[in-house]
Amino acid sequence: MTFDSFGLDARVRAGVDAAGYTNPTPIQRKALPDAVAGRDVLGLAQTGTGKTAAFVLPLLNKLVHGPRRRIRALVVAPTRELAEQIHNEIRTLGSKTNLRSATVYGGVGKAPQQKALRGGAEIIVACPGRLLDHLRSGDGDLSGVEVLVLDEADHMFDMGFLPDVRRIVRQVPADAQRLLFSATMPKELRHLADEVLNDPFVVEIARTAPADTVEHALYPVDADHKTRMLKHLLDRSEVRSALVFTRTKHRAKRLAQQLDREGFQVASLQGNLSQARRQKALDGFRDGSYDVLIATDIAARGIDVTRVSHVINYDVPDTVEAYTHRLGRTGRADRSGDAVTMITREDGKQVRAIEGALKMRIERVKLDGYGAFDDDAMRSVPARGGRGGSGGGRGGGNRGGNRGGSGRPGGQSQGGRGGGGRRGGSAPRSGQNRSTNND
Ligand code: AMP
Repeated sequence: MTFDSFGLDARVRAGVDAAGYTNPTPIQRKALPDAVAGRDVLGLAQTGTGKTAAFVLPLLNKLVHGPRRRIRALVVAPTRELAEQIHNEIRTLGSKTNLRSATVYGGVGKAPQQKALRGGAEIIVACPGRLLDHLRSGDGDLSGVEVLVLDEADHMFDMGFLPDVRRIVRQVPADAQRLLFSATMPKELRHLADEVLNDPFVVEIARTAPADTVEHALYPVDADHKTRMLKHLLDRSEVRSALVFTRTKHRAKRLAQQLDREGFQVASLQGNLSQARRQKALDGFRDGSYDVLIATDIAARGIDVTRVSHVINYDVPDTVEAYTHRLGRTGRADRSGDAVTMITREDGKQVRAIEGALKMRIERVKLDGYGAFDDDAMRSVPARGGRGGSGGGRGGGNRGGNRGGSGRPGGQSQGGRGGGGRRGGSAPRSGQNRSTNND
């Protein structure tokens, strides 16, 4: 199946070429025929699957005919980063349509948004709170909306936005096409989906498993050696752009300062940053000025940065969902990526929960000199073996964890990459993520 199979208007089809997409991703293959035909869709898919284009293409295809200078499509998203990311995808895919898209979210001036809402754009990509502010003060009329998209609905639920979302949905005509995307479907969301969608086509892609191209590994480490191990990992040549997750914003900030002092090109993304500094960190990571972005789950929510080569969990995520979301930031679309999680002796419970939910055993990789230990899963594996030094991971008990095990850095303590690697930073990269932890 190619993008020619969906009967897209030539102007919209040209946008696919402009985006450089050659083959549809699984969610696009499954959702596009029904969505383009005008049916409601419930898409169970996480970031990284190509879900954005799965709703943007049908939306553009519908809007390319018909009136201009009025709001005809509304996309509701939980975070401004996600809103910007969707807006950018609309701009690329819609570059030959002359349709205009605008974002509406808090923390920035209202005037340009008012202009967009009063007829300056056909497509509005909005976060719920600020959109409601505008609607309450009479800016924006949703009665002409033909397509409504609710993206990352589970995060809107997590963030307490469902009442606002319902208020917005009530202002959209009953016969508008509705597309709802979510990585998970908790009960409350199921109710919302029932209210909002009319006989939807349901498509589900890899709800719990991270993207197929991601390879996982757990690195047992003594808590005191985490930062040293991180530096060692970052120095490896295959690590081109790393997104590093910490449990708290203080840890993110401190770690970024430490790495910065050591010459890494690093930025941190955490709740305390102003919008301007946050944007600077993100832009720098995207354009390659930074090789390493250190983030908390909350701060990283909704971010889309492609070409992340590695996600490194400096702290184990609290939930399986958070693990999956963090990893959704690498191995995106057709790119492959690695996911490294440092585990300490205290993390056994979370590790078991993650492995249980993913129904796979994750490879353990022991590096010499960092206080590696044998957790339950490692006891059956010879501590020495594999290639090089102490690499307990690859040889024996690595059943299924590492899909074929090709090309991963493997477990041995083979040191950095000799030549000073990423410091001074000319390496390409960019990354992104998000998830559920607090702070
Ligand atoms: P999303 O899940 O929408 O956040 O998309 C994940 C990434 O995949 C984004 O960087 C998209 O630009 C990219 N992408 C989406 N569709 C395709 C496709 N058909 N081929 C290649 N890359 C794609």
